[in-house]
Amino acid sequence: MTSNPPEFPQMSRQSPAHGWPQNPKSKIDGFGIQPPLDDITREFQPQLRKFAVEVMRPIGQRLDRLPADQIIAEGSEFWTFHKRYQELGVELSMLAQMEPEARANLFCVLLEELGYGDGGLAISVAAGMLPTYVSMLFGNQFLMERFPETELGCWGITEPDHGSDSIDPQGMVRHPGAKYGRPNTVARFYKDKIILNGQKSAWVSNGTCAKHCILYCAADFGDGPSVEGGCVLVIPLDLPGISRGKPLEKLGQRGDPQGEIFFNDVEVSLDYVLAGPEDYLRAVYCIHSEANALMGAIWTGAARSAYHLAHAYAHERKQGGVPIFNHQLVAYKLFHMFRSVEAASSLTRRVVHYNMTSDVPALQAAMCAKTLGTQTAFEVSSEALGIFGGNGLTHEYPMEKIMRDSRASLIEDGTNDVLAIKGGYYLMDPDLL
Ligand SMILES: Cc1cc2nc3c(=O)[nH]c(=O)nc-3n(C[C@H](O)[C@H](O)[C@H](O)COP(=O)(O)OP(=O)(O)OC[C@H]3O[C@@H](n4cnc5c(N)ncnc54)[C@H](O)[C@@H]3O)c2cc1C
Repeated sequence: MTSNPPEFPQMSRQSPAHGWPQNPKSKIDGFGIQPPLDDITREFQPQLRKFAVEVMRPIGQRLDRLPADQIIAEGSEFWTFHKRYQELGVELSMLAQMEPEARANLFCVLLEELGYGDGGLAISVAAGMLPTYVSMLFGNQFLMERFPETELGCWGITEPDHGSDSIDPQGMVRHPGAKYGRPNTVARFYKDKIILNGQKSAWVSNGTCAKHCILYCAADFGDGPSVEGGCVLVIPLDLPGISRGKPLEKLGQRGDPQGEIFFNDVEVSLDYVLAGPEDYLRAVYCIHSEANALMGAIWTGAARSAYHLAHAYAHERKQGGVPIFNHQLVAYKLFHMFRSVEAASSLTRRVVHYNMTSDVPALQAAMCAKTLGTQTAFEVSSEALGIFGGNGLTHEYPMEKIMRDSRASLIEDGTNDVLAIKGGYYLMDPDLL
């Protein structure tokens, strides 16, 4: 048989099938099955991967072994990491000027690569930039300039008595007939100032060392605090009356220094209000739409790193007389890990693109990205640990740490269970949003 091309119009593709080698193969590179990127993102991606592998991963592993209070000590590698991150030059001001599609690309790639390096440190960067980023989204020039991204920020939402409650201002998942009870952080509004009292929980990422905070609190105009009528402030954390709790000892993401923030008659001017009670739901919606989607990207990166490490190990480790990759079951597992990582990456990028190019982002879509990205990181790192056999359990190998970090991600930014319940309600009736 001759192999002449058929006489209908050629499909426009780079390499027509009749020009392929007889035994075609495609080698997917370390960034996976990604659609073409814009020029800026394509340039940054390999630099970010190098930074993730050569800087973040080793620093993250060393920080993981330290007692929590030493992580933020002067001279700790936590600070070296943040300095080196700043030197990469991926600035919010640059992102803001990009077209929405390109911005979505770079945001996803940036956070995937940071997650590839170290989940806890990636969260520290993301929480660190959040106050500046949200101030930009709200077009609040004063707060943007007052709190530059070069200084570490944090996000104070959860309270000792309000974890899941605090991400549910509309009371969508509240038990029928129940009440949320008294808020722990209250902003008492006066004509020209606010007085803050209360505390945020020990879970505030960077809470032990951040310079400023985007803070959710109940608003009190003289008739008592109301959770439903909350407000969002962005405040400096060096004001009189602010103190910090002890750094939290925890299972995973140990490179992210978490701890309480206490407020005792803290006075701030009204300039620091990002959203008053009338804008509260809009602000929470905006912040969680961004944060949930970007969490999807970070934990997709962690999942990819677990998959790559397991893939490499399966070529090194011999059992049954051959590298374990040759055993069908190991190849089968690696295939499913790869598939899961690609699915999480595709969904996350799709959601971030959708949200960054829509008039109003879809919070329910962002919840899909968060829950899928984190669940994938946990499942893939657990499977990867199995491929490492007994070595997977030891501190000598990276896998148990990625699994611990990923386990924490299922709870972070709203447990996946509560997000799924809320997401389900939103799908049922978007007017609930
Ligand atoms: C690594 C990490 C980083 C974090 N970073 C930050 C941060 O930067 N800033 C910040 O403020 N907070 C942060 N958090 C806190 C996080 O948002 C909360 O832990 C989370 O919202 C859950 O709250 P909780 O831990 O109090 O659990 P709880 O709310 O006490 O939940 C306990 C259990 O009950 C279930 N549950 C609770 N309510 C309901 C309901 N209505 N319906 C069904 N099930 C329910 C939950 O799913 C969970 O299984 C972080 C947490 C982690 C783990």
